[in-house]
Order: sequence, then C-alpha cells, then structure tokens
Amino acid sequence: MEPLLPVYARADLAFERGDGAHVFDAAGRRYLDFSSGIAVTALGHAHPHLIAALKTQAEKLWHTSNAVRIPEQERLGARLVAATFADTVFFTNSGTEAVECAIKMARKYHSAHGAPERYRIVTFSGAFHGRTLAAIAAGGDLKKIEGFGPKLDGFDSVPFGDWAALRTALSDAHGAVMIEPIQGEGGIRQVPDEDLRALRKLCDERGMLLILDEVQCGVGRTGQFYAHEWAGIRPDILATAKGLGGGFPVGACLATERAASGMTAGSHGSTFGGNPLAMAVANAVLDVILADGFLESVVKTGAALHEELEALATRHHNMVDEVRGRGLMLGLKVRGDNRAVVAGLRTSGLLTVAASENVVRLLPPLMIGPEHIAEAVDILDRALAAPEMQA
Ligand code: PLP
Repeated sequence: MEPLLPVYARADLAFERGDGAHVFDAAGRRYLDFSSGIAVTALGHAHPHLIAALKTQAEKLWHTSNAVRIPEQERLGARLVAATFADTVFFTNSGTEAVECAIKMARKYHSAHGAPERYRIVTFSGAFHGRTLAAIAAGGDLKKIEGFGPKLDGFDSVPFGDWAALRTALSDAHGAVMIEPIQGEGGIRQVPDEDLRALRKLCDERGMLLILDEVQCGVGRTGQFYAHEWAGIRPDILATAKGLGGGFPVGACLATERAASGMTAGSHGSTFGGNPLAMAVANAVLDVILADGFLESVVKTGAALHEELEALATRHHNMVDEVRGRGLMLGLKVRGDNRAVVAGLRTSGLLTVAASENVVRLLPPLMIGPEHIAEAVDILDRALAAPEMQA
C-alpha cells in the first residue's frame, strides 16, 4: 500500500515552488495557478510581506498554549472585530474546525438561554462544510456520510434556493440556519442578496441564529471582506479560513456577543488554534487585504475576468453553458465532463478546480493583473478548442 491514505484521486503532478500567480514543477514547467490551492493562496505564492512576517515570528516564538495570552492573537482578533459584524473571535486551524465551533456555539446559545431542545440546524443541498462528523452531517451528502456510523443528529437539509421548503421544514427545535453565501464545492451557486436579506429576517422572526460559512467565499474573494456584506446583512456567527492565512493553516469562528453568550471558559478550545506563527501570517494577510483600494481592485479585476469569460463562453458555446460567480470566485458550467476539462487545462498550464453541477472553478489569487487574465483566457481558448475536449 502507498504510505499515504488513498482518500484523494491525485493528479500525477507536484510543484516545487511558486511565485505570484504561478507555480513551477521540478522540471521548471510553469503553471498559472487559478486554483490557489482551493481559494487559499489569496495573495499568490511567496508574497514578500507574508514571508517577512513568518520569518520574523519564526525567529521569535513559534508556540505557546492558549493558557496564556498571545499578543498576535489579540491583535488579529481585534482587527477582525473592527472590520466585521463580530464582537468576538475563536481561532482554529482549518475551515472545518471553524464550522464545528459555529455549530457548538449555536447549540450552546439556546441551551444557555433555557432552550436546549433548539439544537437543530437547517442546512442546504449542495452545501459543503468540511469533513468532521458534524460537518459531513451538516453537508448532507450521503456519499460522504455513509459508512461512518450513525449520522450526527441535528441537521435538516432543504433544497438550495427553495425558501418555501425551508419554511415548511422549520420547527420549534430549529435554533439556527447555516448557509454559504456562495456555495463553492456545490458549483459556485450564489445566494441572491435579496434572499440572504430574507433569510436574515426569517431568522430574526423565529429567534434563530444565522450562521454563514464563508470558509471559501470570505477574505476578499468576492470583492468585499466577507461576501455577505454585498447583501448589507449581519450574521450572528461566521466561519472563515482558507484565504485568511494565505497558505498558512488558520481559521476562525466570528460571532456577535449575543450569539457567543453561551461560550464560557472550558466550553471550547484548541492546542494549536491562534498559534503565534499562524497569527503573524494572518495579520500580514490583513495588512494587504484591508489596505485602501485592495478590495476595490478585486471588484475591478473580477469584473474584467467575468467579462472575458462571458466572451469565451460565447466563442465556445458548444462547451460552456454559463459563467457564474462574483468577484474572483468564478465558475464555468461546462458540457461534457468538468473533470476532463480541469485535467485538459492543467496539461495546458492552467490550474482550476472541479465543482458540482459540472462546474470548473476559477479561484485566482486576488492580486492578479490583466496579464494573468490574458494568459488564462488564451489557455482556456486553446484547450476548449482542442478536439479531445469537444463535448
Ligand atoms: N466550508 C466550506 C464552504 C469549504 O469550502 C470548506 C473547504 O473546502 C470547508 C468548510 C472545510 O474547510 P477545511 O478543508 O479547511 O477544513
């Protein structure tokens, strides 16, 4: 057996180094990285400011426990609070752990307020919230749940976008709704802003907490710091990760004071969460993403790429059905097999990611320029025209 647990169908390809929007294999072949390690390397590879932050911290202190104060953590927490709806933050090492914290917090809120029976959470078909037992139960995809013993109770999945079904499914046992403002794994499926506002209103009417999973769509990817800001709403709890560390593992659960009111000393924890190295890098990521003009540039670049992709979809209407997404979280719904398209693009030097609904995801670093868009469109044009790609 191979030494690595065979839970991935990996491409036979390895990269040796990265530079900005490109990665290079051992033979020196260059690839344009429009996958960003699945929306993680938001500032590209080898960003000098992130390298400097990591090196400086590495020479000072790597790790203490959360039994003591961690100044870099306090700084990042305060900055996230200042930049978002949140009053408080818990740091994790991954998106799944941020989601787990969000689920526990919602349950604990109702329990602490005298309604422990309100532990159920409504989720949506096509959702992906991670791979822990709670996260797979929340995601609702049977393929990911089966064989792992009893499905964790407390999640009720309703069809994505079917708000009537949501209202029908609601009972007094529901204490929260959890949703991705844009489904990533689900195929770049966006919740319209007016629906997100209606969901906020429904949660308020029913005394439910609104949990947003912005693990993939957050940290500037859509051109707002967090995607829900486009809708002008404020969630109660939000899970974030991926781009927050720019490639260093870090996640966070953000919450309002009210939503977090059940969480007290001992009710949650993590050995590594909020570690000084992760905090130093995430603080450096925020230096760039929250700098004046950065998010505006993501909106502009996203619009330019979107426009190019629409034109590409017209040129290759036999191959591309639709362009989806917002900012630099974009998807091409293709005909034929999206995984074959992703593989063909990879062979042609462009890294993308497959998603449900036959979508090819384009998740470039947020600092790409017109030259990267031109390079991507050129590769897409040539790859989609190749005879072996024809649907
Ligand atoms: N939630 C969403 C929306 C995601 O896209 C992902 C990962 O793809 C996760 C949660 C899980 O994050 P992680 O893989 O960091 O645990």
